[in-house]
Amino acid sequence: MRGVIMDAPGEIRVDERATPTIEEPTDAIIKVAATCVCGSDLWPYRGVEDVDHAPMGHEYVGTVTEVGDEVTTVSVGDFVVGSFFASDNTCEICRAGYQSRCVHAHPMGAVGTQAEYARIPLADGTLVATPGHPDEELIPSLLAASDVLGTGWFGAVAAEVGHGKTVAVVGDGAVGLLGVLAAKHLGAERIIAMSRHPARQALAREFGATDIVVERGDEGVARIKDLTDGLGAHSVIEAVGTQESMLQAIRSARPGGHVGYVGVSHDVELPGLELFFSGVHLHGGPAPVRRFLPELIDLIWNREIDPGKVFDLTLPLADAAEGYRAMDERRATKVLLTV
Ligand SMILES: [Zn+2]
Repeated sequence: MRGVIMDAPGEIRVDERATPTIEEPTDAIIKVAATCVCGSDLWPYRGVEDVDHAPMGHEYVGTVTEVGDEVTTVSVGDFVVGSFFASDNTCEICRAGYQSRCVHAHPMGAVGTQAEYARIPLADGTLVATPGHPDEELIPSLLAASDVLGTGWFGAVAAEVGHGKTVAVVGDGAVGLLGVLAAKHLGAERIIAMSRHPARQALAREFGATDIVVERGDEGVARIKDLTDGLGAHSVIEAVGTQESMLQAIRSARPGGHVGYVGVSHDVELPGLELFFSGVHLHGGPAPVRRFLPELIDLIWNREIDPGKVFDLTLPLADAAEGYRAMDERRATKVLLTV
Protein backbone atom coordinates (compact mmCIF):
# COMPACT_ATOMS: atom_id res chain seq x y z
CA MET A 1 0.00 0.00 0.00
CA ARG A 2 0.99 3.66 -0.31
CA GLY A 3 1.74 5.67 2.83
CA VAL A 4 3.41 8.88 3.98
CA ILE A 5 6.92 8.66 5.39
CA MET A 6 8.91 11.52 6.92
CA ASP A 7 12.56 10.69 6.29
CA ALA A 8 13.91 13.74 8.12
CA PRO A 9 12.65 17.22 9.00
CA GLY A 10 11.04 18.76 5.93
CA GLU A 11 11.35 15.56 3.88
CA ILE A 12 8.03 13.92 3.05
CA ARG A 13 7.70 10.97 0.71
CA VAL A 14 4.72 8.85 -0.31
CA ASP A 15 5.97 5.34 -0.87
CA GLU A 16 5.20 1.66 -0.53
CA ARG A 17 4.62 0.43 3.02
CA ALA A 18 3.68 -3.05 4.16
CA THR A 19 -0.11 -3.48 4.08
CA PRO A 20 -1.16 -4.05 7.69
CA THR A 21 -2.56 -7.36 8.87
CA ILE A 22 -4.26 -8.50 12.08
CA GLU A 23 -1.55 -8.93 14.72
CA GLU A 24 -3.66 -9.22 17.87
CA PRO A 25 -7.17 -10.68 18.19
CA THR A 26 -8.33 -7.23 19.35
CA ASP A 27 -7.15 -5.50 16.13
CA ALA A 28 -9.18 -4.26 13.19
CA ILE A 29 -7.93 -3.23 9.76
CA ILE A 30 -9.55 -0.26 8.06
CA LYS A 31 -9.38 1.02 4.51
CA VAL A 32 -8.75 4.70 5.15
CA ALA A 33 -11.27 6.99 3.43
CA ALA A 34 -9.65 10.25 4.49
CA THR A 35 -6.79 11.35 6.71
CA CYS A 36 -5.11 14.68 7.35
CA VAL A 37 -2.02 16.59 8.38
CA CYS A 38 -2.02 17.70 12.01
CA GLY A 39 -0.43 20.79 13.53
CA SER A 40 1.51 18.37 15.72
CA ASP A 41 3.01 16.76 12.57
CA LEU A 42 4.72 20.11 12.05
CA TRP A 43 6.87 19.72 15.18
CA PRO A 44 9.03 16.96 13.60
CA TYR A 45 8.66 18.59 10.16
CA ARG A 46 10.30 21.72 11.57
CA GLY A 47 12.96 19.73 13.41
CA VAL A 48 11.61 20.56 16.89
CA GLU A 49 11.06 16.82 17.49
CA ASP A 50 13.36 14.06 16.22
CA VAL A 51 12.18 12.08 13.22
CA ASP A 52 13.84 9.31 11.22
CA HIS A 53 12.03 7.55 8.37
CA ALA A 54 8.77 7.56 10.34
CA PRO A 55 5.33 6.60 9.01
CA MET A 56 3.08 9.60 9.64
CA GLY A 57 -0.48 10.42 10.59
CA HIS A 58 -2.83 9.71 13.49
CA GLU A 59 -6.21 10.96 12.23
CA TYR A 60 -8.47 8.69 10.23
CA VAL A 61 -11.91 7.60 9.15
CA GLY A 62 -12.60 4.59 7.01
CA THR A 63 -14.26 1.27 6.45
CA VAL A 64 -13.46 -1.87 8.40
CA THR A 65 -12.07 -4.58 6.13
CA GLU A 66 -11.00 -7.18 8.68
CA VAL A 67 -11.42 -7.82 12.41
CA GLY A 68 -9.60 -10.01 14.91
CA ASP A 69 -11.36 -12.91 16.65
CA GLU A 70 -12.08 -10.95 19.83
CA VAL A 71 -13.56 -7.83 18.22
CA THR A 72 -17.29 -7.55 18.89
CA THR A 73 -18.42 -3.92 18.53
CA VAL A 74 -17.42 -3.23 14.92
CA SER A 75 -17.81 -5.45 11.86
CA VAL A 76 -16.44 -5.66 8.35
CA GLY A 77 -18.15 -2.97 6.26
CA ASP A 78 -18.74 -0.53 9.15
CA PHE A 79 -17.67 3.06 8.61
CA VAL A 80 -15.69 4.08 11.70
CA VAL A 81 -14.08 7.03 13.44
CA GLY A 82 -11.35 6.57 16.02
CA SER A 83 -9.19 8.66 18.29
CA PHE A 84 -5.49 9.42 17.80
CA PHE A 85 -4.82 7.15 20.79
CA ALA A 86 -6.07 3.57 20.75
CA SER A 87 -7.55 2.67 24.13
CA ASP A 88 -9.27 -0.33 25.69
CA ASN A 89 -12.08 1.89 27.04
CA THR A 90 -12.47 -0.51 29.99
CA CYS A 91 -9.61 0.23 32.42
CA GLU A 92 -10.10 2.50 35.41
CA ILE A 93 -8.51 5.47 33.64
CA CYS A 94 -10.70 5.01 30.55
CA ARG A 95 -13.86 4.63 32.63
CA ALA A 96 -13.00 7.92 34.33
CA GLY A 97 -12.97 9.50 30.86
CA TYR A 98 -9.23 9.76 30.21
CA GLN A 99 -8.89 7.27 27.34
CA SER A 100 -5.82 8.97 25.86
CA ARG A 101 -3.99 7.94 29.04
CA CYS A 102 -5.43 4.40 29.05
CA VAL A 103 -3.15 1.89 30.78
CA HIS A 104 -2.99 0.16 27.38
CA ALA A 105 -2.91 3.36 25.29
CA HIS A 106 -1.35 3.00 21.88
CA PRO A 107 -0.44 6.16 19.92
CA MET A 108 -1.88 5.97 16.42
CA GLY A 109 1.02 8.09 15.17
CA ALA A 110 3.13 4.94 15.56
CA VAL A 111 0.73 3.18 13.17
CA GLY A 112 0.85 6.03 10.66
CA THR A 113 -2.66 6.60 9.30
CA GLN A 114 -1.63 8.76 6.33
CA ALA A 115 -1.86 5.58 4.29
CA GLU A 116 -4.30 3.45 2.35
CA TYR A 117 -4.89 1.02 5.22
CA ALA A 118 -4.34 1.15 8.98
CA ARG A 119 -4.23 -1.39 11.76
CA ILE A 120 -6.32 -0.21 14.71
CA PRO A 121 -5.29 -1.83 18.01
CA LEU A 122 -7.98 -2.36 20.68
CA ALA A 123 -10.66 -1.88 18.05
CA ASP A 124 -13.58 -2.37 20.46
CA GLY A 125 -12.37 0.40 22.72
CA THR A 126 -11.05 2.72 20.03
CA LEU A 127 -13.49 2.77 17.12
CA VAL A 128 -17.01 4.13 16.96
CA ALA A 129 -19.15 3.13 13.98
CA THR A 130 -21.31 5.76 12.32
CA PRO A 131 -25.05 5.01 11.95
CA GLY A 132 -24.52 4.12 8.29
CA HIS A 133 -22.22 4.89 5.40
CA PRO A 134 -21.84 8.69 5.46
CA ASP A 135 -22.65 11.03 2.61
CA GLU A 136 -19.46 12.33 1.02
CA GLU A 137 -19.97 15.82 2.46
CA LEU A 138 -19.92 14.51 6.05
CA ILE A 139 -16.50 12.90 5.76
CA PRO A 140 -14.43 16.03 6.56
CA SER A 141 -16.45 16.65 9.72
CA LEU A 142 -16.19 13.01 10.83
CA LEU A 143 -12.46 13.15 10.18
CA ALA A 144 -12.21 16.31 12.29
CA ALA A 145 -13.79 14.38 15.16
CA SER A 146 -10.80 12.02 15.14
CA ASP A 147 -8.57 14.70 16.64
CA VAL A 148 -9.01 18.46 16.17
CA LEU A 149 -12.71 18.62 17.06
CA GLY A 150 -12.32 16.23 19.98
CA THR A 151 -9.27 18.16 21.14
CA GLY A 152 -10.96 21.56 20.91
CA TRP A 153 -13.96 20.06 22.70
CA PHE A 154 -11.80 18.73 25.52
CA GLY A 155 -10.09 22.13 25.75
CA ALA A 156 -13.50 23.71 26.31
CA VAL A 157 -14.64 21.06 28.79
CA ALA A 158 -11.33 21.27 30.68
CA ALA A 159 -11.75 25.04 30.81
CA GLU A 160 -15.21 24.49 32.36
CA VAL A 161 -16.97 26.36 29.57
CA GLY A 162 -20.66 26.70 30.29
CA HIS A 163 -23.74 28.88 30.11
CA GLY A 164 -23.20 32.56 30.62
CA LYS A 165 -19.44 32.36 30.68
CA THR A 166 -16.84 34.40 28.84
CA VAL A 167 -14.32 32.26 27.02
CA ALA A 168 -11.00 33.30 25.49
CA VAL A 169 -9.31 31.08 22.92
CA VAL A 170 -5.54 31.32 22.44
CA GLY A 171 -4.54 29.86 19.06
CA ASP A 172 -6.30 30.09 15.70
CA GLY A 173 -5.29 26.74 14.23
CA ALA A 174 -7.88 24.04 13.67
CA VAL A 175 -8.00 23.13 17.38
CA GLY A 176 -8.46 26.72 18.53
CA LEU A 177 -11.19 27.30 15.93
CA LEU A 178 -13.00 24.15 16.99
CA GLY A 179 -12.56 25.21 20.60
CA VAL A 180 -14.66 28.21 19.59
CA LEU A 181 -17.27 25.88 18.07
CA ALA A 182 -17.27 23.75 21.24
CA ALA A 183 -17.60 26.82 23.48
CA LYS A 184 -20.59 27.99 21.46
CA HIS A 185 -22.23 24.58 21.67
CA LEU A 186 -21.56 24.37 25.42
CA GLY A 187 -23.43 27.63 25.98
CA ALA A 188 -20.75 30.30 26.36
CA GLU A 189 -22.18 33.81 26.28
CA ARG A 190 -19.10 35.54 24.96
CA ILE A 191 -16.27 33.94 22.98
CA ILE A 192 -13.11 35.91 22.32
CA ALA A 193 -10.93 34.44 19.58
CA MET A 194 -7.30 35.58 19.54
CA SER A 195 -6.21 35.72 15.90
CA ARG A 196 -4.58 38.11 13.46
CA HIS A 197 -5.37 36.02 10.38
CA PRO A 198 -8.41 37.37 8.45
CA ALA A 199 -9.65 34.02 7.07
CA ARG A 200 -9.35 32.37 10.48
CA GLN A 201 -11.07 35.32 12.17
CA ALA A 202 -13.95 34.86 9.73
CA LEU A 203 -14.25 31.14 10.48
CA ALA A 204 -14.02 31.84 14.22
CA ARG A 205 -16.96 34.22 13.88
CA GLU A 206 -18.87 31.65 11.86
CA PHE A 207 -18.24 29.09 14.63
CA GLY A 208 -19.52 31.50 17.28
CA ALA A 209 -16.81 33.99 18.27
CA THR A 210 -18.31 37.28 19.46
CA ASP A 211 -15.04 39.22 19.69
CA ILE A 212 -11.65 39.07 17.99
CA VAL A 213 -8.40 40.12 19.65
CA VAL A 214 -5.43 40.56 17.33
CA GLU A 215 -2.86 41.46 19.99
CA ARG A 216 -0.61 38.82 21.50
CA GLY A 217 1.38 38.37 24.69
CA ASP A 218 0.95 41.09 27.33
CA GLU A 219 -0.98 43.30 24.90
CA GLY A 220 -3.36 40.44 24.18
CA VAL A 221 -3.87 39.89 27.90
CA ALA A 222 -4.57 43.61 28.36
CA ARG A 223 -7.24 43.46 25.63
CA ILE A 224 -8.92 40.47 27.30
CA LYS A 225 -8.94 42.38 30.60
CA ASP A 226 -10.45 45.42 28.81
CA LEU A 227 -13.24 43.24 27.47
CA THR A 228 -14.00 41.64 30.86
CA ASP A 229 -14.21 44.59 33.28
CA GLY A 230 -10.59 44.10 34.22
CA LEU A 231 -11.22 40.59 35.55
CA GLY A 232 -10.15 38.21 32.80
CA ALA A 233 -12.12 35.40 31.16
CA HIS A 234 -13.89 32.65 33.11
CA SER A 235 -12.50 30.03 30.76
CA VAL A 236 -9.45 30.05 28.50
CA ILE A 237 -8.65 27.43 25.89
CA GLU A 238 -4.93 27.19 25.14
CA ALA A 239 -4.37 25.57 21.73
CA VAL A 240 -0.75 26.31 20.84
CA GLY A 241 1.68 24.88 23.39
CA THR A 242 4.42 27.49 23.62
CA GLN A 243 5.74 29.49 26.56
CA GLU A 244 4.11 32.65 25.22
CA SER A 245 0.72 31.07 24.55
CA MET A 246 0.56 29.27 27.89
CA LEU A 247 1.38 32.43 29.87
CA GLN A 248 -1.05 34.38 27.71
CA ALA A 249 -3.74 31.85 28.59
CA ILE A 250 -3.04 31.84 32.33
CA ARG A 251 -2.85 35.65 32.47
CA SER A 252 -6.09 35.98 30.47
CA ALA A 253 -8.05 33.95 33.05
CA ARG A 254 -9.62 35.58 36.08
CA PRO A 255 -8.77 34.40 39.62
CA GLY A 256 -10.73 31.21 40.10
CA GLY A 257 -10.99 30.79 36.32
CA HIS A 258 -10.08 27.71 34.33
CA VAL A 259 -7.50 27.10 31.62
CA GLY A 260 -7.94 24.07 29.36
CA TYR A 261 -4.59 23.47 27.68
CA VAL A 262 -4.53 21.22 24.65
CA GLY A 263 -1.63 22.58 22.59
CA VAL A 264 1.18 20.02 22.84
CA SER A 265 3.55 21.64 25.32
CA HIS A 266 7.06 22.44 24.03
CA ASP A 267 9.62 23.88 26.45
CA VAL A 268 6.97 25.52 28.61
CA GLU A 269 8.12 26.47 32.11
CA LEU A 270 5.65 28.07 34.48
CA PRO A 271 6.77 30.59 37.11
CA GLY A 272 5.57 29.07 40.38
CA LEU A 273 4.94 32.25 42.31
CA GLU A 274 2.89 33.77 39.50
CA LEU A 275 0.92 30.55 39.16
CA PHE A 276 0.32 30.52 42.93
CA PHE A 277 -1.14 34.01 43.01
CA SER A 278 -3.08 33.60 39.75
CA GLY A 279 -5.56 31.32 41.51
CA VAL A 280 -6.46 29.65 38.20
CA HIS A 281 -7.30 26.00 37.58
CA LEU A 282 -5.14 24.26 34.98
CA HIS A 283 -6.31 21.12 33.26
CA GLY A 284 -5.36 19.64 29.93
CA GLY A 285 -3.18 17.17 28.13
CA PRO A 286 -3.73 14.82 25.21
CA ALA A 287 -7.47 14.99 24.65
CA PRO A 288 -9.47 11.89 25.54
CA VAL A 289 -11.24 12.16 22.19
CA ARG A 290 -12.86 8.74 22.64
CA ARG A 291 -14.91 10.14 25.54
CA PHE A 292 -16.62 12.60 23.20
CA LEU A 293 -16.82 10.58 19.96
CA PRO A 294 -20.36 9.18 20.27
CA GLU A 295 -21.78 12.64 21.02
CA LEU A 296 -19.70 14.36 18.33
CA ILE A 297 -20.63 11.80 15.67
CA ASP A 298 -24.26 12.31 16.59
CA LEU A 299 -24.01 16.11 16.26
CA ILE A 300 -22.27 15.77 12.89
CA TRP A 301 -24.67 13.10 11.63
CA ASN A 302 -27.64 15.35 12.50
CA ARG A 303 -25.87 18.31 10.85
CA GLU A 304 -25.91 20.36 14.02
CA ILE A 305 -22.21 21.18 13.72
CA ASP A 306 -19.93 21.44 10.69
CA PRO A 307 -16.36 21.17 11.99
CA GLY A 308 -15.13 20.00 8.57
CA LYS A 309 -14.97 23.68 7.59
CA VAL A 310 -11.49 23.82 9.13
CA PHE A 311 -10.18 21.90 6.11
CA ASP A 312 -9.23 24.57 3.60
CA LEU A 313 -7.08 22.41 1.33
CA THR A 314 -7.84 18.92 0.02
CA LEU A 315 -5.19 16.92 -1.79
CA PRO A 316 -4.74 13.31 -2.84
CA LEU A 317 -2.49 11.25 -0.56
CA ALA A 318 0.16 11.27 -3.31
CA ASP A 319 0.54 15.05 -2.83
CA ALA A 320 1.09 14.85 0.95
CA ALA A 321 4.41 16.72 0.68
CA GLU A 322 2.58 19.77 -0.68
CA GLY A 323 0.06 19.43 2.16
CA TYR A 324 2.84 19.59 4.75
CA ARG A 325 4.40 22.60 3.00
CA ALA A 326 1.09 24.45 2.88
CA MET A 327 0.50 23.95 6.59
CA ASP A 328 4.10 24.78 7.48
CA GLU A 329 3.86 28.05 5.55
CA ARG A 330 0.42 28.74 7.04
CA ARG A 331 -1.12 28.80 3.57
CA ALA A 332 -3.57 26.19 4.88
CA THR A 333 -5.19 25.80 8.28
CA LYS A 334 -5.77 22.07 7.91
CA VAL A 335 -5.10 19.76 5.00
CA LEU A 336 -7.33 16.79 4.17
CA LEU A 337 -5.75 13.92 2.26
CA THR A 338 -8.08 11.78 0.19
CA VAL A 339 -7.12 8.14 -0.08
ZN1 LIG B 1 -8.02 1.97 29.29
